[in-house]
Amino acid sequence: MKAHFTAARIHLPVAPRCNIQCRYCVRKIDKCEQKPGIAACIMDDEMALKRLEAEFKSSPSLKVVGIAGPGDPLENEATYRVLGRIKDSYPDLILCLSTNGLLLEDVAERLKDSGVRTVTVTINAVDPEVGSKIYDWVRYKGETLEGTKGAELLIKKQLRGVEELVKRGIVVRINTVLIPGVNEDQIPRIAEEASKRGASLMNIIPLIPQHGFKEHRRPTCKELEEARNAAEKYLPQFRLCRQCRADAAGIPGREKGGGAASEYFHG
Ligand code: SF4
Repeated sequence: MKAHFTAARIHLPVAPRCNIQCRYCVRKIDKCEQKPGIAACIMDDEMALKRLEAEFKSSPSLKVVGIAGPGDPLENEATYRVLGRIKDSYPDLILCLSTNGLLLEDVAERLKDSGVRTVTVTINAVDPEVGSKIYDWVRYKGETLEGTKGAELLIKKQLRGVEELVKRGIVVRINTVLIPGVNEDQIPRIAEEASKRGASLMNIIPLIPQHGFKEHRRPTCKELEEARNAAEKYLPQFRLCRQCRADAAGIPGREKGGGAASEYFHG
């Protein structure tokens, strides 16, 4: 975890499309706003590689390259192309990505071949009933599922995906958005299920009220602390997340231009 605060990282926003709709997510292009799911622009492959080259020249401590959106990285072919090119040109950089996990099981081998070392999976529920309050729809193989059916498929694929990555030696971290009154009882259960499948770390993030949850309140610090304590029985907790943008760059906490920092955030 120490590398988070000593090594620079860059997020390349090459993945605009998403295959689910979380009720708390607004994806948009914005140069100033500091929230997850937000990027100043979507980069094509060449722009992303040029951006990386420039960052590499100006920041000798650059060690980590991540793809975190602004949509779901695994749903966008650009992710795989860009990862492959980075692996060939910068074999020493650590490649990471963050995802909602719907496609993880299907692409686990491809990620391993692309040299991905760490994947963050956002899991907000293990009960489909609760999941149906968080996800509007889930689209898989051309079919769009709503309600508990969509949530059930997503949860099943997320947990299988964690297992498949761990089998291949990829480090898996879990992000969970704490939504008061909706999923607090799920938090220790997510930690337990993820831990059983070999995940290494959990990052519980407070809800940012927007989109379908815009009238909802944020969790209090006490609620956040209680959730982390409950989950810690099963998985070590990351307690310093600042919910970075999809195009953050620099050493977390010391970015030029005020980019928010720290743990990859997708969901
Ligand atoms: Fe998709 Fe991530 Fe937004 Fe959820 S939070 S809708 S997974 S981009």
